[in-house]
Amino acid sequence: MKRRAIRSEPLFFERNSRRVRRQGYLLPVLDVPEVTPSEVLPPELIRKPDPHFPDISEMEVVQHFHRLSQLNYAVDEGLYPLGSCTMKYNPRINEEIARLPGFASLHPLQPQSQIQGALRLIWELEESLKAITGMPGATLQPAAGAHGELTGILMIRKALEARGEKREIVLVPDSAHGTNPATATFAGYRAQEIPSADDGTVDLGALDRMMDDTVAALMLTVPNTLGIFEHQILEIADLVHSRGGFIYMDGANLNSFVGRALPGLMGADAMHINLHKTFSTPHGGGGPGAGPVTVSEALLPHLPVPKVQRDDNGFELLWKDPASIGQMRGFYGNFLILVRALTYIWSLGAEGLRSMSDVAVLYANLVRHRLNGAYHLKFDAPSLHEVVFDDSIQTRHEVHNVDIAKRLLDYGFHPPTMSFPLIVHGALMIEPAESVAPDEIEAFCDAMLAIAEEAESDPGLVRSAPHDTPVGRVDEVRAARNLKVTWTPDDEG
Ligand SMILES: *Cc1c(COP(=O)(O)O)cnc(C)c1O
Repeated sequence: MKRRAIRSEPLFFERNSRRVRRQGYLLPVLDVPEVTPSEVLPPELIRKPDPHFPDISEMEVVQHFHRLSQLNYAVDEGLYPLGSCTMKYNPRINEEIARLPGFASLHPLQPQSQIQGALRLIWELEESLKAITGMPGATLQPAAGAHGELTGILMIRKALEARGEKREIVLVPDSAHGTNPATATFAGYRAQEIPSADDGTVDLGALDRMMDDTVAALMLTVPNTLGIFEHQILEIADLVHSRGGFIYMDGANLNSFVGRALPGLMGADAMHINLHKTFSTPHGGGGPGAGPVTVSEALLPHLPVPKVQRDDNGFELLWKDPASIGQMRGFYGNFLILVRALTYIWSLGAEGLRSMSDVAVLYANLVRHRLNGAYHLKFDAPSLHEVVFDDSIQTRHEVHNVDIAKRLLDYGFHPPTMSFPLIVHGALMIEPAESVAPDEIEAFCDAMLAIAEEAESDPGLVRSAPHDTPVGRVDEVRAARNLKVTWTPDDEG
Protein backbone atom coordinates (compact mmCIF):
# COMPACT_ATOMS: atom_id res chain seq x y z
CA MET A 1 0.00 0.00 0.00
CA LYS A 2 2.09 2.91 -1.22
CA ARG A 3 0.85 6.42 -0.90
CA ARG A 4 1.15 9.12 -3.55
CA ALA A 5 4.51 10.84 -3.53
CA ILE A 6 4.07 14.61 -3.55
CA ARG A 7 6.66 16.89 -5.05
CA SER A 8 8.13 19.49 -2.76
CA GLU A 9 6.33 22.76 -2.45
CA PRO A 10 8.07 26.11 -3.12
CA LEU A 11 7.64 29.03 -0.73
CA PHE A 12 5.25 31.82 -1.68
CA PHE A 13 8.25 34.08 -2.03
CA GLU A 14 9.90 31.75 -4.48
CA ARG A 15 6.81 31.62 -6.68
CA ASN A 16 6.68 35.35 -6.59
CA SER A 17 9.98 35.61 -8.39
CA ARG A 18 8.12 34.79 -11.58
CA ARG A 19 6.83 38.36 -11.29
CA VAL A 20 3.41 37.76 -12.72
CA ARG A 21 1.03 40.07 -10.90
CA ARG A 22 -1.86 38.34 -9.29
CA GLN A 23 -4.19 39.39 -6.54
CA GLY A 24 -5.29 37.51 -3.46
CA TYR A 25 -8.22 39.67 -2.47
CA LEU A 26 -10.38 42.30 -4.15
CA LEU A 27 -10.86 45.31 -1.92
CA PRO A 28 -14.11 47.28 -2.19
CA VAL A 29 -13.96 50.53 -4.16
CA LEU A 30 -12.30 53.30 -2.12
CA ASP A 31 -14.97 55.66 -0.75
CA VAL A 32 -12.69 57.94 1.33
CA PRO A 33 -9.97 60.36 0.17
CA GLU A 34 -6.80 58.51 -0.81
CA VAL A 35 -3.63 59.37 1.13
CA THR A 36 -0.02 58.30 0.64
CA PRO A 37 1.99 56.99 3.61
CA SER A 38 4.16 60.11 3.73
CA GLU A 39 1.10 62.27 4.33
CA VAL A 40 0.19 60.42 7.54
CA LEU A 41 3.37 58.79 8.86
CA PRO A 42 6.73 60.24 9.97
CA PRO A 43 9.50 59.33 7.47
CA GLU A 44 11.35 56.98 9.86
CA LEU A 45 8.31 54.71 10.02
CA ILE A 46 8.04 54.28 6.27
CA ARG A 47 9.64 51.11 4.89
CA LYS A 48 12.10 51.78 2.10
CA PRO A 49 13.29 48.43 0.75
CA ASP A 50 10.73 46.42 -1.17
CA PRO A 51 9.35 43.84 1.32
CA HIS A 52 8.94 41.32 -1.52
CA PHE A 53 5.40 40.48 -0.63
CA PRO A 54 4.26 37.77 -2.99
CA ASP A 55 1.48 38.46 -5.51
CA ILE A 56 -0.62 35.36 -5.49
CA SER A 57 -4.26 34.48 -5.84
CA GLU A 58 -6.52 33.10 -3.15
CA MET A 59 -6.62 29.71 -4.85
CA GLU A 60 -2.83 29.52 -4.85
CA VAL A 61 -2.84 30.24 -1.13
CA VAL A 62 -5.33 27.45 -0.49
CA GLN A 63 -3.44 25.02 -2.70
CA HIS A 64 -0.14 25.92 -1.10
CA PHE A 65 -1.30 25.18 2.41
CA HIS A 66 -3.20 22.11 1.32
CA ARG A 67 -0.10 20.70 -0.40
CA LEU A 68 2.02 21.49 2.65
CA SER A 69 -0.45 19.56 4.78
CA GLN A 70 -0.05 16.62 2.39
CA LEU A 71 3.72 16.61 2.88
CA ASN A 72 3.15 15.78 6.49
CA TYR A 73 2.07 12.54 8.06
CA ALA A 74 -0.70 12.81 10.61
CA VAL A 75 -2.71 10.62 12.92
CA ASP A 76 -5.74 11.34 10.71
CA GLU A 77 -3.92 9.74 7.79
CA GLY A 78 -3.02 6.34 9.13
CA LEU A 79 -1.32 4.30 11.82
CA TYR A 80 1.07 6.31 13.96
CA PRO A 81 2.68 3.56 16.01
CA LEU A 82 4.99 5.67 18.18
CA GLY A 83 5.55 3.58 21.29
CA SER A 84 5.13 5.33 24.66
CA CYS A 85 3.44 8.27 22.91
CA THR A 86 -0.05 6.73 22.49
CA MET A 87 -0.89 8.54 19.28
CA LYS A 88 -4.61 7.98 18.93
CA TYR A 89 -7.39 9.47 16.87
CA ASN A 90 -8.90 12.65 18.30
CA PRO A 91 -12.67 12.38 17.75
CA ARG A 92 -14.18 15.42 16.02
CA ILE A 93 -16.73 15.85 18.79
CA ASN A 94 -13.82 16.92 21.05
CA GLU A 95 -13.06 19.78 18.71
CA GLU A 96 -16.69 20.76 18.37
CA ILE A 97 -17.13 21.01 22.13
CA ALA A 98 -13.83 22.86 22.64
CA ARG A 99 -14.94 25.44 20.07
CA LEU A 100 -18.19 26.28 21.86
CA PRO A 101 -17.97 30.02 22.51
CA GLY A 102 -18.78 29.47 26.18
CA PHE A 103 -15.47 27.61 26.48
CA ALA A 104 -13.31 29.04 23.70
CA SER A 105 -14.05 32.72 24.46
CA LEU A 106 -13.67 32.58 28.24
CA HIS A 107 -11.26 34.99 29.83
CA PRO A 108 -9.30 33.69 32.80
CA LEU A 109 -9.91 36.92 34.72
CA GLN A 110 -13.70 36.77 34.40
CA PRO A 111 -15.50 36.85 37.76
CA GLN A 112 -16.13 33.40 39.22
CA SER A 113 -19.88 33.91 39.02
CA GLN A 114 -19.57 33.96 35.20
CA ILE A 115 -17.39 30.86 34.87
CA GLN A 116 -19.35 28.37 36.92
CA GLY A 117 -19.63 26.01 33.95
CA ALA A 118 -15.89 26.04 33.38
CA LEU A 119 -15.20 25.45 37.07
CA ARG A 120 -17.68 22.62 37.06
CA LEU A 121 -15.91 21.10 34.06
CA ILE A 122 -12.61 21.18 35.96
CA TRP A 123 -14.27 19.65 38.99
CA GLU A 124 -15.94 16.91 36.93
CA LEU A 125 -12.70 16.01 35.19
CA GLU A 126 -10.90 15.84 38.53
CA GLU A 127 -13.64 13.52 39.80
CA SER A 128 -13.32 11.31 36.69
CA LEU A 129 -9.54 11.06 37.01
CA LYS A 130 -9.85 10.28 40.72
CA ALA A 131 -12.26 7.46 39.88
CA ILE A 132 -10.05 6.15 37.06
CA THR A 133 -6.94 6.06 39.27
CA GLY A 134 -8.57 5.23 42.60
CA MET A 135 -6.82 8.18 44.22
CA PRO A 136 -8.44 10.85 46.44
CA GLY A 137 -6.99 14.09 45.00
CA ALA A 138 -6.17 15.65 41.63
CA THR A 139 -4.76 18.78 40.02
CA LEU A 140 -5.26 19.62 36.36
CA GLN A 141 -2.69 22.41 36.20
CA PRO A 142 0.40 20.76 34.71
CA ALA A 143 0.82 21.40 31.00
CA ALA A 144 2.29 18.00 30.10
CA GLY A 145 3.44 14.71 31.54
CA ALA A 146 6.90 16.02 32.36
CA HIS A 147 5.37 19.02 34.12
CA GLY A 148 3.12 16.62 36.04
CA GLU A 149 6.20 14.70 37.15
CA LEU A 150 7.72 17.90 38.50
CA THR A 151 4.46 18.75 40.28
CA GLY A 152 4.35 15.29 41.87
CA ILE A 153 7.98 15.27 42.98
CA LEU A 154 7.64 18.79 44.45
CA MET A 155 4.62 17.58 46.45
CA ILE A 156 6.68 14.62 47.69
CA ARG A 157 9.49 16.99 48.67
CA LYS A 158 6.99 19.15 50.55
CA ALA A 159 5.56 16.13 52.38
CA LEU A 160 9.06 15.07 53.42
CA GLU A 161 9.84 18.60 54.61
CA ALA A 162 6.63 18.57 56.63
CA ARG A 163 7.98 15.44 58.35
CA GLY A 164 11.25 17.27 58.96
CA GLU A 165 13.12 15.04 56.54
CA LYS A 166 15.47 15.94 53.78
CA ARG A 167 16.20 13.02 51.51
CA GLU A 168 18.54 13.32 48.51
CA ILE A 169 17.88 10.52 46.07
CA VAL A 170 15.13 9.57 43.63
CA LEU A 171 15.36 6.04 42.23
CA VAL A 172 14.60 5.57 38.55
CA PRO A 173 14.61 2.23 36.70
CA ASP A 174 16.96 1.93 33.72
CA SER A 175 13.97 1.47 31.39
CA ALA A 176 12.41 4.83 32.36
CA HIS A 177 11.57 7.73 30.08
CA GLY A 178 14.25 10.43 30.09
CA THR A 179 11.87 12.91 31.68
CA ASN A 180 11.98 10.91 34.97
CA PRO A 181 15.66 11.48 35.83
CA ALA A 182 15.39 15.01 34.41
CA THR A 183 12.48 15.75 36.75
CA ALA A 184 14.28 14.33 39.78
CA THR A 185 17.34 16.46 39.02
CA PHE A 186 15.28 19.58 38.35
CA ALA A 187 13.50 19.14 41.69
CA GLY A 188 16.87 19.09 43.47
CA TYR A 189 17.36 15.33 43.87
CA ARG A 190 20.04 12.99 42.63
CA ALA A 191 18.60 10.47 40.17
CA GLN A 192 19.93 6.99 40.79
CA GLU A 193 19.34 4.18 38.34
CA ILE A 194 17.93 0.78 39.38
CA PRO A 195 18.71 -2.12 37.05
CA SER A 196 15.99 -4.23 35.48
CA ALA A 197 15.77 -7.96 36.13
CA ASP A 198 15.96 -10.44 33.25
CA ASP A 199 12.23 -10.16 32.56
CA GLY A 200 12.45 -6.37 32.12
CA THR A 201 10.76 -5.43 35.42
CA VAL A 202 12.35 -3.79 38.48
CA ASP A 203 14.96 -5.94 40.20
CA LEU A 204 13.43 -6.27 43.67
CA GLY A 205 16.73 -7.36 45.23
CA ALA A 206 18.47 -4.26 43.89
CA LEU A 207 15.63 -2.09 45.15
CA ASP A 208 15.94 -3.69 48.58
CA ARG A 209 19.65 -2.81 48.65
CA MET A 210 19.18 0.75 47.42
CA MET A 211 16.04 1.79 49.31
CA ASP A 212 17.17 3.49 52.50
CA ASP A 213 16.42 6.70 54.40
CA THR A 214 18.21 8.85 51.82
CA VAL A 215 15.69 7.92 49.14
CA ALA A 216 12.73 10.27 48.70
CA ALA A 217 10.85 8.37 46.03
CA LEU A 218 10.84 5.66 43.42
CA MET A 219 9.61 6.82 40.01
CA LEU A 220 7.98 3.87 38.36
CA THR A 221 6.26 3.54 35.01
CA VAL A 222 3.37 1.06 35.05
CA PRO A 223 3.25 -0.86 32.80
CA ASN A 224 6.88 -0.05 32.07
CA THR A 225 8.22 1.28 28.80
CA LEU A 226 8.70 -2.27 27.52
CA GLY A 227 4.93 -2.67 27.79
CA ILE A 228 5.44 -5.13 30.67
CA PHE A 229 3.41 -4.93 33.86
CA GLU A 230 5.39 -4.61 37.10
CA HIS A 231 3.99 -7.82 38.54
CA GLN A 232 5.67 -7.17 41.91
CA ILE A 233 4.18 -3.71 42.24
CA LEU A 234 2.62 -4.43 45.65
CA GLU A 235 5.92 -5.71 47.11
CA ILE A 236 7.73 -2.74 45.55
CA ALA A 237 5.29 -0.21 47.04
CA ASP A 238 5.39 -1.89 50.47
CA LEU A 239 9.17 -1.88 50.48
CA VAL A 240 9.40 1.81 49.53
CA HIS A 241 6.66 2.91 51.94
CA SER A 242 8.04 0.87 54.84
CA ARG A 243 11.30 2.82 54.53
CA GLY A 244 9.59 6.20 54.44
CA GLY A 245 9.73 6.79 50.66
CA PHE A 246 7.01 7.65 48.15
CA ILE A 247 5.92 6.02 44.92
CA TYR A 248 5.72 8.37 41.95
CA MET A 249 3.90 6.57 39.18
CA ASP A 250 4.54 7.63 35.60
CA GLY A 251 1.07 7.21 34.13
CA ALA A 252 1.96 7.72 30.48
CA ASN A 253 0.98 4.10 29.85
CA LEU A 254 -2.43 4.34 31.50
CA ASN A 255 -4.02 3.57 28.12
CA SER A 256 -3.34 -0.10 28.80
CA PHE A 257 -5.45 -0.53 31.92
CA VAL A 258 -8.20 2.08 32.32
CA GLY A 259 -11.10 0.40 34.09
CA ARG A 260 -9.04 -2.73 34.77
CA ALA A 261 -6.78 -1.69 37.65
CA LEU A 262 -6.43 1.21 40.09
CA PRO A 263 -3.01 2.78 40.70
CA GLY A 264 -4.33 3.92 44.09
CA LEU A 265 -4.58 0.26 45.12
CA MET A 266 -1.09 -0.43 43.76
CA GLY A 267 0.35 2.06 46.25
CA ALA A 268 0.93 5.10 44.02
CA ASP A 269 1.30 8.39 45.93
CA ALA A 270 1.33 10.64 42.88
CA MET A 271 0.73 9.85 39.25
CA HIS A 272 0.58 11.99 36.16
CA ILE A 273 -1.86 11.27 33.40
CA ASN A 274 -1.03 12.46 29.89
CA LEU A 275 -4.48 13.58 28.76
CA HIS A 276 -3.03 13.99 25.27
CA LYS A 277 -2.10 10.32 25.21
CA THR A 278 -4.74 8.30 27.05
CA PHE A 279 -7.66 10.65 26.53
CA SER A 280 -7.16 11.53 22.87
CA THR A 281 -6.67 15.30 22.84
CA PRO A 282 -4.47 16.36 19.90
CA HIS A 283 -0.86 15.53 20.42
CA GLY A 284 2.37 16.17 18.63
CA GLY A 285 4.42 19.08 17.40
CA GLY A 286 5.15 20.03 20.98
CA GLY A 287 1.74 20.67 22.42
CA PRO A 288 -0.49 21.83 23.85
CA GLY A 289 -1.10 18.98 26.21
CA ALA A 290 -2.09 18.46 29.81
CA GLY A 291 -0.54 16.32 32.53
CA PRO A 292 -2.93 16.22 35.49
CA VAL A 293 -1.64 14.58 38.67
CA THR A 294 -3.66 12.44 41.03
CA VAL A 295 -2.44 11.97 44.59
CA SER A 296 -2.81 9.72 47.62
CA GLU A 297 -4.08 10.85 51.03
CA ALA A 298 -0.50 11.63 52.09
CA LEU A 299 -0.03 14.30 49.43
CA LEU A 300 -3.53 15.85 49.47
CA PRO A 301 -2.53 18.91 51.52
CA HIS A 302 0.24 19.78 49.07
CA LEU A 303 -1.79 20.00 45.85
CA PRO A 304 -1.15 23.20 43.85
CA VAL A 305 -3.45 26.21 44.16
CA PRO A 306 -5.87 27.35 42.88
CA LYS A 307 -8.06 24.40 43.79
CA VAL A 308 -11.65 24.15 42.60
CA GLN A 309 -14.06 23.60 45.47
CA ARG A 310 -17.72 22.80 45.45
CA ASP A 311 -20.22 23.99 48.04
CA ASP A 312 -23.95 24.73 48.18
CA ASN A 313 -23.54 27.93 46.17
CA GLY A 314 -21.64 26.30 43.32
CA PHE A 315 -17.94 26.23 42.55
CA GLU A 316 -15.15 28.47 43.69
CA LEU A 317 -11.40 28.74 43.46
CA LEU A 318 -9.31 28.43 46.58
CA TRP A 319 -6.11 30.43 46.10
CA LYS A 320 -4.59 30.29 49.59
CA ASP A 321 -3.54 27.07 51.21
CA PRO A 322 -0.52 27.10 53.53
CA ALA A 323 0.67 23.54 52.80
CA SER A 324 0.30 23.82 49.04
CA ILE A 325 3.35 23.77 46.77
CA GLY A 326 1.87 26.88 45.14
CA GLN A 327 0.89 27.49 41.55
CA MET A 328 2.40 25.39 38.75
CA ARG A 329 0.88 27.08 35.72
CA GLY A 330 -0.91 30.27 34.70
CA PHE A 331 -4.53 30.18 35.85
CA TYR A 332 -5.94 26.62 35.64
CA GLY A 333 -3.74 24.88 33.07
CA ASN A 334 -4.45 24.25 29.39
CA PHE A 335 -8.19 24.52 29.78
CA LEU A 336 -9.35 23.59 26.27
CA ILE A 337 -7.35 20.35 26.46
CA LEU A 338 -9.30 19.57 29.63
CA VAL A 339 -12.54 20.18 27.71
CA ARG A 340 -11.48 17.69 25.04
CA ALA A 341 -10.46 15.06 27.59
CA LEU A 342 -13.72 15.23 29.51
CA THR A 343 -15.64 15.06 26.23
CA TYR A 344 -13.74 11.90 25.37
CA ILE A 345 -14.25 10.35 28.80
CA TRP A 346 -17.96 11.14 28.86
CA SER A 347 -18.56 10.04 25.27
CA LEU A 348 -16.98 6.64 25.91
CA GLY A 349 -18.29 6.10 29.44
CA ALA A 350 -16.91 3.50 31.83
CA GLU A 351 -17.62 0.55 29.52
CA GLY A 352 -16.16 2.33 26.51
CA LEU A 353 -12.98 3.26 28.37
CA ARG A 354 -12.50 -0.30 29.49
CA SER A 355 -12.83 -1.62 25.97
CA MET A 356 -10.49 1.14 24.75
CA SER A 357 -7.74 -0.38 26.90
CA ASP A 358 -8.69 -3.93 26.00
CA VAL A 359 -8.44 -3.21 22.28
CA ALA A 360 -5.14 -1.32 22.69
CA VAL A 361 -3.66 -4.38 24.42
CA LEU A 362 -5.15 -6.76 21.86
CA TYR A 363 -3.64 -4.80 18.97
CA ALA A 364 -0.19 -4.66 20.54
CA ASN A 365 -0.33 -8.41 20.99
CA LEU A 366 -1.44 -8.85 17.39
CA VAL A 367 1.65 -6.92 16.26
CA ARG A 368 3.84 -8.91 18.61
CA HIS A 369 2.47 -12.21 17.34
CA ARG A 370 2.84 -11.30 13.67
CA LEU A 371 6.33 -9.80 13.86
CA ASN A 372 7.91 -12.16 16.40
CA GLY A 373 10.55 -14.20 14.60
CA ALA A 374 11.07 -11.70 11.79
CA TYR A 375 12.20 -9.16 14.41
CA HIS A 376 13.97 -10.00 17.65
CA LEU A 377 12.20 -9.60 21.01
CA LYS A 378 14.71 -9.06 23.81
CA PHE A 379 12.12 -9.33 26.57
CA ASP A 380 9.68 -12.05 25.69
CA ALA A 381 7.27 -11.36 28.57
CA PRO A 382 3.53 -10.87 27.91
CA SER A 383 2.94 -7.33 26.64
CA LEU A 384 0.24 -4.85 27.37
CA HIS A 385 -0.30 -1.93 25.00
CA GLU A 386 3.13 -1.79 23.35
CA VAL A 387 5.85 -4.15 22.24
CA VAL A 388 9.59 -3.53 21.88
CA PHE A 389 11.51 -5.35 19.15
CA ASP A 390 15.10 -4.70 18.18
CA ASP A 391 17.13 -4.79 14.98
CA SER A 392 19.59 -7.55 15.94
CA ILE A 393 18.33 -9.93 13.18
CA GLN A 394 18.67 -7.15 10.57
CA THR A 395 22.08 -5.88 11.72
CA ARG A 396 23.52 -9.15 10.38
CA HIS A 397 22.91 -7.53 6.99
CA GLU A 398 24.07 -4.11 8.19
CA VAL A 399 20.50 -2.86 8.32
CA HIS A 400 19.75 -0.80 11.44
CA ASN A 401 16.57 0.36 13.15
CA VAL A 402 16.83 3.78 11.50
CA ASP A 403 16.91 2.14 8.04
CA ILE A 404 13.80 0.13 8.87
CA ALA A 405 12.07 3.29 10.10
CA LYS A 406 12.96 5.19 6.91
CA ARG A 407 11.85 2.31 4.69
CA LEU A 408 8.46 2.29 6.47
CA LEU A 409 7.91 5.81 5.11
CA ASP A 410 8.02 4.35 1.60
CA TYR A 411 5.28 1.95 2.63
CA GLY A 412 3.19 4.88 3.84
CA PHE A 413 3.51 4.45 7.59
CA HIS A 414 4.89 6.59 10.34
CA PRO A 415 7.82 4.77 11.96
CA PRO A 416 7.63 3.45 15.52
CA THR A 417 9.62 4.97 18.38
CA MET A 418 13.28 4.18 17.99
CA SER A 419 16.24 3.57 20.27
CA PHE A 420 14.05 3.79 23.40
CA PRO A 421 13.92 2.31 25.99
CA LEU A 422 17.69 2.52 26.32
CA ILE A 423 18.02 -0.99 27.73
CA VAL A 424 17.10 -2.44 24.33
CA HIS A 425 19.85 -1.76 21.80
CA GLY A 426 18.42 -0.83 18.37
CA ALA A 427 14.89 -0.70 19.77
CA LEU A 428 11.76 -0.49 17.63
CA MET A 429 8.97 0.29 20.06
CA ILE A 430 5.53 -0.22 18.56
CA GLU A 431 2.28 0.99 20.08
CA PRO A 432 -0.67 0.74 17.68
CA ALA A 433 -3.30 2.23 20.09
CA GLU A 434 -6.91 1.16 19.78
CA SER A 435 -8.38 3.73 17.43
CA VAL A 436 -7.28 2.41 14.00
CA ALA A 437 -9.02 -0.31 12.03
CA PRO A 438 -7.59 -3.85 12.25
CA ASP A 439 -6.82 -3.80 8.49
CA GLU A 440 -4.45 -0.89 9.03
CA ILE A 441 -2.58 -2.87 11.68
CA GLU A 442 -2.38 -5.90 9.40
CA ALA A 443 -1.10 -3.65 6.59
CA PHE A 444 1.53 -2.23 8.94
CA CYS A 445 2.63 -5.75 9.91
CA ASP A 446 2.75 -6.72 6.21
CA ALA A 447 5.02 -3.73 5.56
CA MET A 448 7.28 -4.62 8.50
CA LEU A 449 7.53 -8.23 7.27
CA ALA A 450 8.28 -7.06 3.72
CA ILE A 451 11.06 -4.85 5.09
CA ALA A 452 12.51 -7.74 7.11
CA GLU A 453 12.57 -9.71 3.84
CA GLU A 454 14.20 -6.83 1.95
CA ALA A 455 16.82 -6.50 4.68
CA GLU A 456 18.00 -9.98 3.66
CA SER A 457 17.45 -9.95 -0.08
CA ASP A 458 18.31 -6.33 -0.89
CA PRO A 459 19.79 -4.60 2.16
CA GLY A 460 21.02 -1.65 0.08
CA LEU A 461 17.41 -0.77 -0.76
CA VAL A 462 16.57 -0.49 2.94
CA ARG A 463 19.80 1.31 3.84
CA SER A 464 19.16 4.02 1.24
CA ALA A 465 15.47 4.54 2.09
CA PRO A 466 13.27 6.53 1.91
CA HIS A 467 12.87 6.55 -1.86
CA ASP A 468 9.29 7.79 -2.35
CA THR A 469 9.12 10.78 -0.01
CA PRO A 470 9.49 14.44 -1.07
CA VAL A 471 12.68 14.66 0.99
CA GLY A 472 15.18 11.82 1.13
CA ARG A 473 17.32 10.92 4.10
CA VAL A 474 18.34 14.06 5.93
CA ASP A 475 21.43 14.71 7.99
CA GLU A 476 19.58 14.89 11.29
CA VAL A 477 22.44 16.35 13.27
CA ARG A 478 22.98 19.12 10.74
CA ALA A 479 19.25 19.74 10.49
CA ALA A 480 19.06 20.22 14.24
CA ARG A 481 22.23 22.30 14.56
CA ASN A 482 21.85 24.54 11.51
CA LEU A 483 18.18 25.36 11.65
CA LYS A 484 17.17 27.73 8.89
CA VAL A 485 13.75 29.09 9.58
CA THR A 486 13.71 32.34 7.60
CA TRP A 487 14.03 33.27 3.97
CA THR A 488 15.44 36.52 2.68
CA PRO A 489 15.53 37.77 -0.90
CA ASP A 490 19.30 37.41 -0.87
CA ASP A 491 18.89 33.65 -0.64
CA GLU A 492 16.96 33.72 -3.87
CA GLY A 493 19.88 32.71 -6.07
C1 LIG B 1 5.31 10.82 27.10
C2 LIG B 1 5.95 10.29 28.31
C3 LIG B 1 6.37 11.16 29.34
C4 LIG B 1 6.36 12.66 29.22
O1 LIG B 1 5.12 13.19 28.94
P1 LIG B 1 4.96 14.57 28.12
O2 LIG B 1 3.50 14.79 28.12
O3 LIG B 1 5.54 14.32 26.76
O4 LIG B 1 5.72 15.62 28.86
C5 LIG B 1 6.87 10.59 30.49
N1 LIG B 1 6.99 9.25 30.61
C6 LIG B 1 6.62 8.39 29.63
C7 LIG B 1 6.75 6.91 29.86
C8 LIG B 1 6.10 8.90 28.44
O5 LIG B 1 5.73 8.06 27.46
